[in-house]
Amino acid sequence: FNAPTKPKLTLRLCEPRGFCAGVDRAIQIVVLALKKYGAPVYVRHEIVHNRYVVDGLRDMGAVFVKELDEIPDDGQPVVFSAHGVPKSVPAAAATREMLYLDATCPLVSKVHKQAMLHVKRGRHVVLIGHKGHPEVVGTMGQLAPGTASLIETVADVAAFEPADPAALGFVTQTTLSLDDTADIVAALKAKFPQMTAPSSESICYATTNRQEAVKASAEGSDLFLIVGAPNSSNSRRLVEVAERAGAAHGLLVEGPDEIPFEMLTQEHPVVGMSAGASAPEVLVDAIIAALRERFDLRLELVQTAEENENFPVMRALRDVPLTSA
Ligand code: SF4
Repeated sequence: FNAPTKPKLTLRLCEPRGFCAGVDRAIQIVVLALKKYGAPVYVRHEIVHNRYVVDGLRDMGAVFVKELDEIPDDGQPVVFSAHGVPKSVPAAAATREMLYLDATCPLVSKVHKQAMLHVKRGRHVVLIGHKGHPEVVGTMGQLAPGTASLIETVADVAAFEPADPAALGFVTQTTLSLDDTADIVAALKAKFPQMTAPSSESICYATTNRQEAVKASAEGSDLFLIVGAPNSSNSRRLVEVAERAGAAHGLLVEGPDEIPFEMLTQEHPVVGMSAGASAPEVLVDAIIAALRERFDLRLELVQTAEENENFPVMRALRDVPLTSA
């Protein structure tokens, strides 16, 4: 008997995709802290927005807490997440003489510095971002109350009436949509022509590269899968970018169980795929395997940039071998 032939499917795989240098570093910090200090290692907030990663670290002995007051034991280390934390958090940890390891991405720390520089130069800070996201909470928490305002949309710009329209400086969350942010910045500049930009772009290289690769491959795809968690800002932006750039449907999936095969009944469907900065490659592999089971898969790689960024972990953990001999 001849095995029944599988229907053809083209999978456009975006490159770069998945883990960025900041996420990689944050995960390494937890793993190395577990090796150096033993379990439990406390982690304030999800270290990165991905259940698979968080569950894996929990299995190794990490204990995730929302706030420091949930930690009963001052002797064990606590790691702060890649999104950054308000200044009050390390201050509270220091008061309790806790050993804390700050996994804030260096690119988020850079935005903190830019925001503080605006204040130092006498400017009111305009933070473009999403209310409630931990990175926004962390950036706002670097600044004294009343020195910053959050702008989420172009409509917010119209309603924004600062005390001194001539003394404004903006920064943005690192994981926003490049296009939406450009619209908001244009509206702000039109209303407040003297507003000062940060010394360099706040949206990070990983966000930019992942969005560009999705843009380049979205046109003509019947379905665009973004591997990522519902609370991952950069992953959700990738779904929007895919749909805006011409994908018939964009969908955020956490793994192969969520692939909507019923949407792939057309002759030779084209599926695009990328992964948010907090989504591990193992989930991408699992989705490819699930597609391969049902389809005769043609893989197309759409590469728009090369990434060589690597953020080293803090000195205290550099002597710990990442892999056991
Ligand atoms: Fe850092 Fe960008 Fe990754 Fe966020 S998405 S952790 S800012 S590199």
